Amino acid sequence: MENERIVVKGVILRATDTKDADKMLTVLTGERGKLSVVARGARRRTSRIAAASQLFVYSEMVLCERRGWYMLDEAATLCQFSALQNDLSQFALASYFAELTESLTQEEIEAHTALSLFLNALYALETLQKPSALVKAAFTLRLLCLAGYEPLLDACAYCDEVTPQRPMLDVLQGILRCAGCGTGSGGLSMPLCPASLAAMRHIVSCEPKRLYSFTLPDDALARLDNAAEAFCAAQLERGFRTLDYYKALQI
Ligand SMILES: [Zn+2]
Repeated sequence: MENERIVVKGVILRATDTKDADKMLTVLTGERGKLSVVARGARRRTSRIAAASQLFVYSEMVLCERRGWYMLDEAATLCQFSALQNDLSQFALASYFAELTESLTQEEIEAHTALSLFLNALYALETLQKPSALVKAAFTLRLLCLAGYEPLLDACAYCDEVTPQRPMLDVLQGILRCAGCGTGSGGLSMPLCPASLAAMRHIVSCEPKRLYSFTLPDDALARLDNAAEAFCAAQLERGFRTLDYYKALQI
């Protein structure tokens, strides 16, 4: 009996060694969202699917569905991000992007925007050589927005001031406030500044292609990065092992 064969373009978010020389892959595709794919023999050097079964490699894949499992039959590599594979800090950051993406995408639900967001983040790190903190903050916030966790940044939620001089992001409620407003509301707020607030507004509302088209002085970038990270942890109510590892490398 013929098995169903499908052709998808996908990037490897996770690759786990399993029995024999096999790998279990978590693949993010545009058409079918996140898929679990068995790559038989992918750890053999002679395997024609070995290259496509590496982390962060983006390929056109022929998958075969057998008894409820997707098997990787053939692959043609489209992009390998090989410089990123050889830089420990960038590799760790990309691993965090992959873990965050995996947690915010679903199986068998289209994920074209998340896929292009993920690939563009790797491109911004590797090819455009944007600062890691900038890519990390922009990718994290934009992916959270896509998944339905968009912070409300139009104005202070208490006094409607559009340009607070000492803005804060209340990461639990996902709202903007002035340092002096809503102080009795508890929660957890992260300090911003006019420049980091402007960058955050750009990130949540810009054209996808312009996501990384901004610059910030180091202190403002640190505020943006810290606020984005705290917002992510508060909204998702979890940490990420890969993020802890990336941060440990920065010391
Ligand atoms: Zn206010």
